[in-house]
Amino acid sequence: MGTNVLKTETPTSIDDAVYFLKENLNEGDHRPSISFGFGDPSCFECFRTTPVAEEAIVEAVRSAKFNSYAPTGGILPARRAVADYLSRDLPYRLSPDDVYLTLGCNQAAEITIEVLARPGANILLPRPGYPDIEAYAIFNKLEIRQFDLLPERGWEVDLDTIEAMSDESTVAMVIINPGNPSGSVYTYNHLNKIAETARKLGIVVIADEVYGHLVYGSNPFVPMSLFATIVPVITLGSVSKRWMIPGWGLGWLVTCDPSGLLRKDEVKA
Ligand SMILES: *Cc1c(COP(=O)(O)O)cnc(C)c1O
Repeated sequence: MGTNVLKTETPTSIDDAVYFLKENLNEGDHRPSISFGFGDPSCFECFRTTPVAEEAIVEAVRSAKFNSYAPTGGILPARRAVADYLSRDLPYRLSPDDVYLTLGCNQAAEITIEVLARPGANILLPRPGYPDIEAYAIFNKLEIRQFDLLPERGWEVDLDTIEAMSDESTVAMVIINPGNPSGSVYTYNHLNKIAETARKLGIVVIADEVYGHLVYGSNPFVPMSLFATIVPVITLGSVSKRWMIPGWGLGWLVTCDPSGLLRKDEVKA
């Protein structure tokens, strides 16, 4: 490390921290480094997506049936495929009309936040969290209120503080499960408690599940949409992580609301 590392700005992501360190290696220091901050497995040949996905894309291109402008929310067969895929884990069925296809999970988050934003509103975000979501909130002039994730409790949400930090102008809370950056996988019971808390506060839960089914440890992945009868859930996901093809840019925003609470206007939005 050089002596000129004291920059005033703090890195906001692991990538930033890695770039910061690399920029500040001593001149002439050519020691090899191993990056533990690498978030894209598709750069390595050993991580290849399923041939089923590759064949499907090739076939779709060769068919010349999908060259026209698509509807904004995605074509029906694709929305149906996502609805069916997510319904596998649920006791109720999602409809293609609940699904909006997006440019990756990031655009799903961006649109969700844009739709919920209004003057004077605030949103509850996890700390540590995902910087892009914070950026979308700032860009849409939503006040950010951060709640802590508790390392000693497997990075669970500090639910005691949620109630105190929310008010009439709170529109939603965001959870990232499985967690980034912590890698935590929430239990059924914890997700149930999150749902009960959000219901009490009359806010929507935005569940970033871009790492859905990618779990460390013994907790199985439980989707937040399982608790959508308690509180409306907006599920965000994409093919980027589980199928290791972030460059394909296919994500989804799914309204999980089997009781129709969002339609009945019983939550603040
Ligand atoms: C990678 C990531 C995203 C973005 O997913 P894309 O499909 O690449 O847009 C969103 N949220 C979290 C927590 C992520 O780690």
